[in-house]
Amino acid sequence: MKPALFAYKKARTLDDAVALLGTHQDARLLAGGQSLIATLNMRLSQPSLLIDINGVAGLAAIAHKNGKIEIGALVRHAQAERDELIAKHVPLLARALPHIGHPAVRNRGTIGGSIAFADPAAELPACLLALDGEIDVYGPKGKRTIRAQDFFKGLFETALGPQEVLTAIRVPAAGKETRTGFAELARRHGDYAMVGLAASARADGKGLRDVRLAFFGVAAMPVRARQSEAALTKGDIEAAVAALDLSPHDDVQASGAVKRHLAAVLLRRIAPQLMEPA
Ligand code: FAD
Repeated sequence: MKPALFAYKKARTLDDAVALLGTHQDARLLAGGQSLIATLNMRLSQPSLLIDINGVAGLAAIAHKNGKIEIGALVRHAQAERDELIAKHVPLLARALPHIGHPAVRNRGTIGGSIAFADPAAELPACLLALDGEIDVYGPKGKRTIRAQDFFKGLFETALGPQEVLTAIRVPAAGKETRTGFAELARRHGDYAMVGLAASARADGKGLRDVRLAFFGVAAMPVRARQSEAALTKGDIEAAVAALDLSPHDDVQASGAVKRHLAAVLLRRIAPQLMEPA
């Protein structure tokens, strides 16, 4: 199908983008277009104005700042996949990125677009939740920072205001104690996951602390399995599996019961990795 008619404007600055968002209530930002253009072509969305932010300077850098890695909204998945800072300091993201679509999708799709779109089966929102990351946004009242746990609100729903632009995400750089694990089950490599798990913890020689198990593809947004996290803190993998507090619904990929079973399979796979020495 072809999209409905829309106007197109190129924002030169963040203020430009914010001002343009204020001119049309249904305006949409265009980043990599890998999700937006498909929804337009299928007429799932019919905005009257597209605001292209690809020309906005300063949104495509990856930097190490105060113990955190900051990734600009316009960093492409492929750029992040090849980045040395991410490979060294954010191993969870380095493992997750190759699972996003195919090379052509990763060449255009952006980190900011993936987080803002908030697909419940997407890898990056779950990684951000597992890493206790932060999201910077810019709007008419200036800049604000939102923790990942407060950002994802529901199905394709986030804490972004109607005139706000996501500008960057930040995650802690991994230290000696950091342990992370990532796995997903998809019908074919590159498809959205049926179920996935992004996990992080700290190991201090005596056991695990700050265990964060973020599952995706099992609910309207990425969700933590808190009871399993508590069981893993006590070092008990089987108790963690038994306590798995997820209630996935049926979807086009699989029934809720199958998804729950697959989530347990992933937890059994990932939990030992969290307990291994780095
Ligand atoms: P766009 O498509 O340009 O925008 C998506 C939405 O986010 C729009 O509503 C837009 O207005 C908004 N937006 C974009 N940037 C910002 C910003 N800076 N601030 C505020 N709002 C913004 N994704 C996965 O996670 N896993 C997969 O396995 C996967 N497989 C795919 C397979 C195919 C065949 C395709 C076509 C896509 C797939 N994707 C997958 C989607 C891909 O990751 C997209 O890149 C991503 O979802 C959106 O990023 P984008 O830059 O393309 O955003």
